[in-house]
Amino acid sequence: MARRSGRFLGTNGRLIDVKLTEELEAVQEIARGFMHRELMPLESSVISTEVTRGFDQVPLIDPVEEKRLTTSVRDLGLWGLEVTEELGGAGLGLLAKAVAVEEINYSITPYRLPPESPNISFLDSIATPEQRERYLYPLSRGEKTSALALTEPDAGADAGGIRTTATKTADGWEISGSKLWISWADTVDFFIVIALTDPIKRNRGGMTAFLVDSPIEGLEISKPIATMGEQRPFGLFFDRVRVPDSAILGEVGEAFAPLTNRLGVRRVEIGARCVGMAQRLVDMMCQYSLERHTFGAPLAERQAVQFMIADSVMELHAARLMVRDAAGMLDSGVKDIRMEASTVKVQSTEMLSRVVDRAMQVHGAMGYSKELPIEFVYRNSRVLRILEGPSEIHRAQIAKLAIKERGAR
Ligand SMILES: Cc1cc2nc3c(=O)[nH]c(=O)nc-3n(C[C@H](O)[C@H](O)[C@H](O)COP(=O)(O)OP(=O)(O)OC[C@H]3O[C@@H](n4cnc5c(N)ncnc54)[C@H](O)[C@@H]3O)c2cc1C
Repeated sequence: MARRSGRFLGTNGRLIDVKLTEELEAVQEIARGFMHRELMPLESSVISTEVTRGFDQVPLIDPVEEKRLTTSVRDLGLWGLEVTEELGGAGLGLLAKAVAVEEINYSITPYRLPPESPNISFLDSIATPEQRERYLYPLSRGEKTSALALTEPDAGADAGGIRTTATKTADGWEISGSKLWISWADTVDFFIVIALTDPIKRNRGGMTAFLVDSPIEGLEISKPIATMGEQRPFGLFFDRVRVPDSAILGEVGEAFAPLTNRLGVRRVEIGARCVGMAQRLVDMMCQYSLERHTFGAPLAERQAVQFMIADSVMELHAARLMVRDAAGMLDSGVKDIRMEASTVKVQSTEMLSRVVDRAMQVHGAMGYSKELPIEFVYRNSRVLRILEGPSEIHRAQIAKLAIKERGAR
């Protein structure tokens, strides 16, 4: 089998990557080189910083280092791979981004390939010319950052149950309520806040997206909430935060449809992250099984270990195909990828959970220790089955769409 840098490429019944164009192969190589050169060397410092920071808000990548990484990303042409050329990106589509994200996430160094694409695609689909100037272009150029503020203390999976309200005033809107688990809230320049503008209609025409600058009078941001993983989300408290009419993103009451598209982009990206992490773990399992001997033979000769590797290889391959298929569909102009995005989200996140568990088992105590990055992935991958919609909600959505489609035949 032709094995190249940890990927299975070949013919005659071997596992084959979905055929990538030459352009995408070039993206893959560049991203892989960046990951090996820049991200791998930071892993030990990421692990030790996470251990020593306790409850303190210390970034796992030093901000100076992060800036340097981002400069390097720009120099290499990896900036905004999927962002349209009009917005200053490379215009190569979501598949290009997925391929690069997979490579980058081979390393556990938690570096996100900029800029934050889901909010860019959200804004791009509905922002007014003025909002494009003020928010979208700076966002796509990396001059501003943003976060989505949707989840609330009483409404997570059931996003239609939010209680934050936006009330019409003489000269704009007044937002009141609480949001919870909002990522990067302490540093972003603006939030896309989803609020109720019609408490009766709710998610059927009563939820509106607002662009809210941060800081702003009346908005309080909590301390970071320590979690099992490296992420530290925040609570937001809106006490009659006043915004102008021009803060409305899209139509009043119509936040849901464009939001679905935004979440779709994020879910494909999450899938690519899972594939990258799982590839690393599979490679580690294969390597360790050759090195580690028990009872006079390498682990590689034990069928129980072989099966753990085989199951991981098969599941990883399936997830990679699903990610690329969903990304390719969006690139080819298919607007509604709800089915594919949900399928990718469930399959890739649950695949990673199984693979990391096996990787830990194969590595024994070493896998459990902070000498290796396995336990880092073990903890940090768990949240991926919860955020951006828990698996149960995606399964319900997949079944609903499948039944509707079959029923209509
Ligand atoms: C680290 C982190 C970062 C986050 N970042 C953001 C962010 O930036 N912006 C944002 O808006 N949100 C963010 N979230 C919130 C995240 O999207 C929610 O946690 C997620 O949607 C689930 O909501 P919940 O936690 O309230 O769970 P709940 O809605 O309370 O559900 C709890 C559990 O119940 C089960 N469940 C719920 N409903 C059903 C059902 N109908 N059928 C079967 N089972 C069900 C599921 O297993 C689910 O996990 C973040 C969360 C975390 C942990």
